[in-house]
Amino acid sequence: MQNYAHILLATDFSDNSNLIADRAKALADSFKAKLSLLHVVDNLPIMDTAYGPDIPFDIDLTEELMKAAKIRLTKLAGQLGVPASSQWLEFGSPKLEIVRVAEENEVDLIVVGSHGRHGLALLLGSTANGVLHYAKCDVLAVRLKDD
Ligand code: AMP
Repeated sequence: MQNYAHILLATDFSDNSNLIADRAKALADSFKAKLSLLHVVDNLPIMDTAYGPDIPFDIDLTEELMKAAKIRLTKLAGQLGVPASSQWLEFGSPKLEIVRVAEENEVDLIVVGSHGRHGLALLLGSTANGVLHYAKCDVLAVRLKDD
């Protein structure tokens, strides 16, 4: 098996995210790989409204979301022993930002969770599907139990 050197854990802080984090940490330890951590504050609720793109960005809300996300990211990074230089907090489309951060930092394995959705959700594409589609490196989709 390929010896991964840089693993990127993409987390959405959902209930299942500890499971994914544990898997990424175990892999990083066993490969002696660098582990990086990324959360993307999704721009969808702000941008993708029925009112069109003319609605101005709610900067205050974005700043609040970024601040709250930073606290959670720092906490998770502390649990995983990930230094500040390997913590990424971005704003935008999660799938595109995950792929961009991976490419720009020579990540060779991205770890995400996957709900294994079917039907319309699969058609619309989950974050895991999007990352699988666009990433140039390997992607590990950790299977999460459906609710
Ligand atoms: P989803 O397709 O939304 O169910 O998410 C699947 C997986 O993609 C999650 O378990 C995370 O690993 C990753 N992910 C989803 N949203 C984000 C986000 N905003 N930031 C970072 N990773 C995310």
